[in-house]
Amino acid sequence: MENRTMKILILDDDPFMIQLMATMLERLGYDRITTAERGADALECISSSGSTPDLVLCDLIMPEMDGLEFARNLVTQRYNGALIIVSGADHRILESSEKLLQAHSIRVLGRLHKPFNKDELKELLDKWSPPPEPAGTSRRKVYSPEEIRHAIENRELISFYQPKVDVATGRVVGMESLVRWRHPEDGLVFPDQFIGVAEESGLIDEVTRLVLSNSLSTARAWHDAGMGIGIAINISMDNLKTLDFPDLIDKKIHEAGVSPDQVTLEITESRLMENHLLSLEVLTRLRLKGFALSIDDFGTGNSTLAQLRDIPFSEMKIDRGFVHEACCANATVRAIYHASLDLAGQIGMSVVAEGVEDAEDWDFLRQTGCGMAQGYFIARPMPEHCISKWLDSWNQRLLEDNIV
Ligand code: C2E
Ligand code: CA
Ligand code: CA
Repeated sequence: MENRTMKILILDDDPFMIQLMATMLERLGYDRITTAERGADALECISSSGSTPDLVLCDLIMPEMDGLEFARNLVTQRYNGALIIVSGADHRILESSEKLLQAHSIRVLGRLHKPFNKDELKELLDKWSPPPEPAGTSRRKVYSPEEIRHAIENRELISFYQPKVDVATGRVVGMESLVRWRHPEDGLVFPDQFIGVAEESGLIDEVTRLVLSNSLSTARAWHDAGMGIGIAINISMDNLKTLDFPDLIDKKIHEAGVSPDQVTLEITESRLMENHLLSLEVLTRLRLKGFALSIDDFGTGNSTLAQLRDIPFSEMKIDRGFVHEACCANATVRAIYHASLDLAGQIGMSVVAEGVEDAEDWDFLRQTGCGMAQGYFIARPMPEHCISKWLDSWNQRLLEDNIV
């Protein structure tokens, strides 16, 4: 469908605003416009076949049904068009509303803060594209514990590696091991499709064991080649439920001939710790043994201040959600980013910014004095055999591209 032929519904309780937006749309060449002053009328229009819009411009503050309630009704009606939030409310309220709508899987093209002009409206309209395939055709497969067990037994789990680099010098400090399942029929399967099931079904210890074997022998090879880079391994909170986990790691690094100071264990806590004391003891023992401990996804979920207080972490990974948005002029997020850097500095932890996707992100980290970085701008996770070629190209970029 050509963009200008899309059907647009304007929902606003203020007739003057409706008129204003309709005029702007007409000037931009859109003429299939319907309007509504009440949420209920708009919903009726959406549910009657033939008049369902491709895009709704939705006011947030309305007397009877507010914009968020209206959006919730859209979900029940299985509306699969797009939406633009329009409001005079505070920027932070607009941002939260956008997040909320996205969480409901509504395609939000963006937000317009009243008063806005035609160009701002146009910029968002240009983002519109036809809706993706209906749900079902692209739904991701969920794997059963049996399938995962089979994958472990057949050693179908392999590691990809993503570099962590020093922001000031560009030097490669380490590689993070990210597990992949080389599925005989489905191709490469990503961890979010099986780690959760492995945790719930008690298979995560075996997954971790295999990841440790693979990653540590790779780290040993780097060491032997004189590369001087560490290895970071993701550990699930569920791995910390037994007191002998530190001994397992000890055994594994011994077998591989790697020393603890080359190894960082990255801990994410996606759910609340069931046995706080036990995991605290396990983590403290790991630190005593000389492993670096990293708090992953800092700022999200349960990776928070209480954790920093209780657990002797040596590294903080600032979640990518904070990094990219801090750089993109979101003042609240930028404040959180700076506070995290500051906090880590005061406790004496090193900092890694995750999700550094473009030169702008990278420059932002350089300007703000962040220690280390990881992300697509530097490299995507890659199989082991691609690393030396990547290292050459990275060194070339450092020389030629004015990155540092
Ligand atoms: P994580 O530890 O936070 O890993 C970072 C994730 O972000 C990786 O996804 C990586 O591919 C992706 N990423 C890296 N740079 C960028 C970027 O610039 N932009 C964007 N958008 N994404 C980026 P991946 O490999 O799919 O892993 C997802 C999560 O699965 C990991 O998040 C980690 O929590 C978990 N995981 C991975 N490997 C293991 C493992 O061996 N054991 C356990 N327990 N969990 C693992
Ligand atoms: Ca990680
Ligand atoms: Ca992370």
